[in-house]
Amino acid sequence: MPYLNDEAVVLNSLRSREKDKVTVLMTRNHGLVRAVARRAFSPTSRLGTALEMLSTLKVQLFRRSESQELFTLCQAVLIERSPLLEADYETLSCGSFLAEVISVVATAEHDESELFRILAQAQVALAQGVERQLLAVAFFASVTAIAGIAPQVGACCRCAREISEECGEWFFLPVSGNFCCAACVLAGESAMRLSAETLRWLEHALQAPFQDCLRYPHHSGCLLESAKVLSEQVQSHLGVKFRTLPYIVEMHNS
Ligand SMILES: [Zn+2]
Repeated sequence: MPYLNDEAVVLNSLRSREKDKVTVLMTRNHGLVRAVARRAFSPTSRLGTALEMLSTLKVQLFRRSESQELFTLCQAVLIERSPLLEADYETLSCGSFLAEVISVVATAEHDESELFRILAQAQVALAQGVERQLLAVAFFASVTAIAGIAPQVGACCRCAREISEECGEWFFLPVSGNFCCAACVLAGESAMRLSAETLRWLEHALQAPFQDCLRYPHHSGCLLESAKVLSEQVQSHLGVKFRTLPYIVEMHNS
């Protein structure tokens, strides 16, 4: 079938040639798709205005054969306008991060419709004004869990000690994606220091439904440490460093 009809969220749009745009879409049923919107920059185009980051669209896509990577965007009807229009700096930063996380992680093995569903929930949370740093890191955790590349939280990988406050210091081992307690970390080993509180938060965020993470107790330290663990994990699995992660790290939260 050369034509595809689907629902899609715009992750990115770049100008290509004089009047075209190449857009990256997360679709509900076909995963990540790259499509060219012909003449999207011409003054009479209705496509151009629909292609804002995080807009939700009904799309019709065309490609000649399955071997062709780039689709042509034939039609796009706006379902929900982007929550980033007229947004403040933190909202834009958070939205850009959500789009980048999906565009990187959706290339791994995953359940496409589940990723699409969580992205839709994150768009609603963004429009509702949920704390930006929390939203970004909870989304990051949920998406890595769905993609099957989340770190193994639960107990020390060496002595099987459970995470508890008595052993306040824990370490993330980026090479193996495991955690270990202070007694088991080796001298000179590449390890990232974490609080037991961060581990608890991260364990919850990786297992609970995304929307529950937005209500789970947290503080900024937990979120920052969790974001660093997750970005190390993605980097070791997919070899990608997030361009927009520094915006999330810099956000001020009490
Ligand atoms: Zn241990």
